[in-house]
Amino acid sequence: MNNIIYLDHAATTATNPEVVLEMMPYFTQMYGNPSSIYGFSQKPKDAIEKARNILGKTINAKPECIYFTAGGSESDNWALKGIAKMYSHKGRHIITSKIEHHAILNTCKYLENNGFKVSYIDVDENGIIKMDELKKAIRRDTILISVMYANNEIGTIQPISEIGRIAREHNIIFHTDAVQAYGHLKIDVKKENIDMLSVSGHKFNGPKGIGFLYIDDRLKIGSFIHGGAQERKLRAGTENVPGIVGIGKAAEIADNSLLLRSEKETALRNYTINRILREIPYCRLNGSLKDRLPNNMNFSFQFVDGSAMIVMLDMYGICCSGGSACTSGDVNASHVLMALGMPEDIARGTIRMTIGHENTKKQMDFVIEKMKSVVARLRDESPVYTDYKKIAMGVGR
Ligand SMILES: *Cc1c(COP(=O)(O)O)cnc(C)c1O
Repeated sequence: MNNIIYLDHAATTATNPEVVLEMMPYFTQMYGNPSSIYGFSQKPKDAIEKARNILGKTINAKPECIYFTAGGSESDNWALKGIAKMYSHKGRHIITSKIEHHAILNTCKYLENNGFKVSYIDVDENGIIKMDELKKAIRRDTILISVMYANNEIGTIQPISEIGRIAREHNIIFHTDAVQAYGHLKIDVKKENIDMLSVSGHKFNGPKGIGFLYIDDRLKIGSFIHGGAQERKLRAGTENVPGIVGIGKAAEIADNSLLLRSEKETALRNYTINRILREIPYCRLNGSLKDRLPNNMNFSFQFVDGSAMIVMLDMYGICCSGGSACTSGDVNASHVLMALGMPEDIARGTIRMTIGHENTKKQMDFVIEKMKSVVARLRDESPVYTDYKKIAMGVGR
């Protein structure tokens, strides 16, 4: 375990030991059902409200607008299906982007099969949504715009305030999947006109299987799980008290350390990007450098198979991913890279590295050296590269 260099923080993160300590008593000591009336259940009940308060504060929202879920996918499903159900009398048109997480895209597909129309907005070659196209897509029957805060593959940060302003002008509900952004970027739902926002605990050193959906209290939303009266009667089921305590603690820690972490990660990221682009030929960085999560790097190496690269790096204990963690095993090139307009053969040579606060310059120096040798070895074995070199040399001399 000690020899692992973990560079896949966009897929998941380790739960902070401080978070685990905070959770522990809620498994074995304060295990009362928060819905029970006796005094023994008061502490778990209080712990839930404490976490709700912390989470609300981090995004400038009232605590009663925070609804706990089982993670990012559930929050995304609930936001889209809940609004579709309650506002279908107003219209059946939804706007989203081509680079959303599958939790959004596959929910949209489901809604399309159920009588809704969805417009998928393009991104430019930097991975930023085309705002003019988004504006043009707005119709009289548009009920919802859902655009992610930051992308999980290429780390690009979308113009959320601008989208929020446009949605508000047109009286359209605005949801954002902020799973990659929360705990890494400062978010303010009021300033940015965000009506709904999805978050997942395990992407910022909280536990897995817990998340929340922020829902502005002006909205009417259909309940996601029918049953008891938990979560203001909208999401039934006995609360995941340890998980809720954990996501609250993780949010508090992330919020307090946000600026420091962001500076540190940005510096290490830029150092690595500069070295890789300078020292490895036929290589490109995907996605805007300016509007980018502090921890994200996504490269395409020409004449190299990305999955072969991942397997070889794994032999040195380096964990990184290809297009997207959720699509590994999928032979098709990632939908995000395709949306950038990248040729499929170049997209195939893509790897993503997402760093965390615990990664060091020494680790990155090791990773860069290994990447250089792995890329060189794979290219030596590649007939395409051998042909390319022959042609290049023939033309050159
Ligand atoms: C990880 C992720 C999700 C899914 O979150 P889970 O908690 O794993 O369900 C959704 N959207 C984005 C952008 C993600 O990165």
